Amino acid sequence: MREDWTDRFLAKITEADNGCWEWQAARLPTGYGRFYLNGKHRYAHRVAYEAVKGPIPDGLVIDHLCRNTSCANPDHLEAVTNRVNVLRGVGFFADRARQTRCIRGHRFDAANTYRARNGTRKCRTCRRAAACEYRRRRRGVRCAAA
Ligand SMILES: [Zn+2]
Ligand SMILES: [Zn+2]
Repeated sequence: MREDWTDRFLAKITEADNGCWEWQAARLPTGYGRFYLNGKHRYAHRVAYEAVKGPIPDGLVIDHLCRNTSCANPDHLEAVTNRVNVLRGVGFFADRARQTRCIRGHRFDAANTYRARNGTRKCRTCRRAAACEYRRRRRGVRCAAA
C-alpha cells in the first residue's frame, strides 16, 4: 500500500506571490527541500515532479525554471539534461556560456566563433586582430583586417 503523503507534503509548502511553492521544512544547504517518503529522504521537488508529471526519465535532472531551489511547484520544474541545467544555472560557467559577445563586443555567431582546445568559445575577429598586431610588431607589416 502506498502511503497517502499528499497532505503531509502540502503542509510543508507556502505559495509565494510568484507562484513558487516554498519548502518550509528541512532543506539541504543548496536550498533543496527534503521530504521523507516510503522510508527514504527524497528531494521535495523531485517528489512533486514525479507525483504530477510522472517518473523522471533516466539521465535527466530537474531544472528549476524559477531558479529557486527551495521551490517544489511542478509547474516551475522541467526535466532536462544535466548540460542544459548547468547552462541555465547561475554562476560563472553559465554566464560564460550565455555570453553572446566577446569582451571587445564582437558577436559570438557561427561565422565568428571557434572553440579553443579547452572548449571555451573564441572570437575570430579578435584572433585576426591579434595576429595582425603580432605581425606589425614583429615585422612592421600592416594589415587591413585589424
Ligand atoms: Zn518556483
Ligand atoms: Zn572579438
